[in-house]
Amino acid sequence: MSMDKIQMVDLHGQYMNIRSEIDAAIKNVIDSTAFINGPQVARFQKNLESFLGVRHAVTCGNGTDALQIALMALGLEPGDEVITSPFTFIATVEAISLLRLKPVFVDVCPRCFNIDATAIEQAITGKTRVILPVHLYGQCANMDAIMHLAEKHKLWVVEDAAQALGSEYAFAGGSVKKAGTIGHIGCTSFFPSKNLGCFGDGGAMFTNIPGWGEKLKSITLHGSRVKYYHEMTGVNSRLDTLQAAVLDVKLKYLPQYNRRRAAAAEYYDNALKGIHQVQLPKRMKQSTHIFHTYTLKVPATDRDPLRDFLQSRGIPTMVYYPVPMHLQKAYSSYGYREGDFPVSEELCGSVVSIPMHTELQEKQLEHICNAIDEFFNR
Ligand SMILES: *Cc1c(COP(=O)(O)O)cnc(C)c1O
Repeated sequence: MSMDKIQMVDLHGQYMNIRSEIDAAIKNVIDSTAFINGPQVARFQKNLESFLGVRHAVTCGNGTDALQIALMALGLEPGDEVITSPFTFIATVEAISLLRLKPVFVDVCPRCFNIDATAIEQAITGKTRVILPVHLYGQCANMDAIMHLAEKHKLWVVEDAAQALGSEYAFAGGSVKKAGTIGHIGCTSFFPSKNLGCFGDGGAMFTNIPGWGEKLKSITLHGSRVKYYHEMTGVNSRLDTLQAAVLDVKLKYLPQYNRRRAAAAEYYDNALKGIHQVQLPKRMKQSTHIFHTYTLKVPATDRDPLRDFLQSRGIPTMVYYPVPMHLQKAYSSYGYREGDFPVSEELCGSVVSIPMHTELQEKQLEHICNAIDEFFNR
């Protein structure tokens, strides 16, 4: 067969296109031996700030740490409540529970899969301190409504933008902001498969509040601004210089990478739109979609047979996510039950993500779409 093997994400192909630049950047770091806090870290932070149009970008060890550090910066007390989505990756909730805060889930909207902003207000109590929306799959949650509620109830907003770096949200008033720069603090991940991925773990936080860049940075450095003088209990969470060097090269390509994902998504849309069993990813009019994943919803009874069929044709698929957060064993002590968040529960049984990355070839896209069509119409 002349077609290259299909992968969920093609990191090697992406690397090959920018290999000499990346290799030179890595070699530079090794020659300098400035492995921790080398000049590439500050340079990458600056370039991230200009790319996002945000006052402060602060890098850290990974996206999970970014969420934890953001919550640590807010001066919360154990038992304070954080409103978030049950249809997300575990890290969102883990950061909350590790700090002895209480996750309060609000179900997602059945078409966009992000937190249902119209249901947030009834979940607000006297202990609510934070709304933590997740911009799932690459598209922003309803930030008009979320920022309005936050202002009205004096709450913090921490965005989980791990899947949405580069996505843009257009407010009803006309202003446009990038995901992660809208709330008080935004968080992202540079895990290799993310839209901007490094060669290991990495993460960052963003804020427009003057002085908060330094505050977030100090938490990543054991709670210190001056070495060996500690103002609070912090963590050790840094972006390696090697990763910053890789990311600084790749950041230049992020708009192009996101465009390539959008082109693949458009191909899928057109090729799959006639299959009535398949619900295509909904585009919300306020947000661009950067397609961290291209996720279909199919009848629950078809989902696993479809995955097996595609696998037999050499097409990998993934389920993001099979179990909603409120039904995870780790969180059984919160007392949630099956049926509490029916939309999230239904999605966990019926979503399936098909290959999405920057190197998809037309022949591969055609093969994938033909196979899906064959499964439903044979
Ligand atoms: C990837 C991801 C994270 C965590 O990122 P890591 O860098 O792997 O710690 C958090 N939230 C969401 C929604 C993610 O997709």
